[in-house]
Amino acid sequence: MTASDHSAYRPEYCTPIYDMAVAQFEKAAAVIDLDPNVWQRFVAPKRALMVSVPIRMEDGAIRVFSGYRVHHDNTLGPSKGGVRYHPDVNLGEVCALAMWMTWKCALVGLPFGGAKGGIRCDPHAMSRLELQRLTRRYTAEILPILGPDIDVPAPDMGTNEQTMAWMMDTYSQFKGYAVPGVVTGKPIAIGGSQGRNEATGRGVVYTVLEAMRHLGMRPEGARAAIQGFGNVGSNTAKALAEAGCTVIAISDVNGGVVNDRGLDVADAISYVERHGSLDGYSGGEALTNTELLELPCDVLVPAALSAQITKANAERLRCRIVAEGANGPTLLEADPILQSRGIFVIPDILANAGGVTVSYFEWVQGLQHLFWKEREVYERLREIMTTAFAQVLATAQAKHVDMRMAALMIGIEKIAKAKLARGVFP
Ligand code: GLU
Repeated sequence: MTASDHSAYRPEYCTPIYDMAVAQFEKAAAVIDLDPNVWQRFVAPKRALMVSVPIRMEDGAIRVFSGYRVHHDNTLGPSKGGVRYHPDVNLGEVCALAMWMTWKCALVGLPFGGAKGGIRCDPHAMSRLELQRLTRRYTAEILPILGPDIDVPAPDMGTNEQTMAWMMDTYSQFKGYAVPGVVTGKPIAIGGSQGRNEATGRGVVYTVLEAMRHLGMRPEGARAAIQGFGNVGSNTAKALAEAGCTVIAISDVNGGVVNDRGLDVADAISYVERHGSLDGYSGGEALTNTELLELPCDVLVPAALSAQITKANAERLRCRIVAEGANGPTLLEADPILQSRGIFVIPDILANAGGVTVSYFEWVQGLQHLFWKEREVYERLREIMTTAFAQVLATAQAKHVDMRMAALMIGIEKIAKAKLARGVFP
């Protein structure tokens, strides 16, 4: 029995993105011949909490926002995953993202389950005070299912280390003492880890370098286009430039710039710090997000929203490597097209696992009250990312599947083993 057999009883989280996550899972589960009992337990989240978050806005009016926190799985340890602030956040999306976190954590060997949270809001249209109130009230509403041993949030789209600091403080106020381990991706001043802010982008680049090695390409002078210039996109651009690549295009929500001779990444980052977005940045010619995806380049990094690479544009991509900095940027039906065109895809749960990996380091350092140097964080991160890449590639080759299927198969198999060992309560 699978989610798709339940059409008459489909829960409300079965939106297109959730169905895509389930379809990916079921494809991989079939290849590994997954135990049917475990199968059933993976197609639905373990628990999902919907909360109303009322806050007083700057104009004095009360507005109520919808918030979510979903635990997909907690077989191996506390559930782990980011909190997203975006106008399109909905239960189905949060459930899909939570499921991907389960496979991601398992794939890179972290003792965590998968979770995700979010608030349906436009953080760019809100003041700092409004965001602080929103974050604090949301944290208070989801408090019963949070905790260093229960569920540990982190930043995601639209949130950052300040959001995590407010979450940590709110949780700690309720407990009566400081509980830094309740979130990761927090500022270093309150127990954050060196390197966490850059971790996802760096991790993307470690996997890109491995892919290049496998394909016989050299990083020096390789041309990269990056969609999304938030935490993941900008740090990927920076790390790619450091590795010798030429970043020819970047974009954010309103479009971006392309420069055939290469963009000055540090200059673009400093522009965004000063102006809040790439709007008006003059480092190259303007282009749309759709145009960026179709640029001729060596490495394409979708690092923004999901569902960017579709059946329609997969035919028009002109890159050799797609490194998925975003979660779920490629629709299921686009995968075989990319594969048949010889485009090497580093799937999201592998490519962007660097963020949650350094979150794990942060959590471990907090538990031990012992903090590592940046060099140590990066060395351990590189080790985990390159090992995971090698395992996924070996599975893809041995089982004649694409990299996404291989990554899912490894992640699912690990959790399935743990679930079978624990059995069912009562
Ligand atoms: N939001 C990030 C992700 O999608 C990081 C999650 C975490 O660090 O817990 O992987």
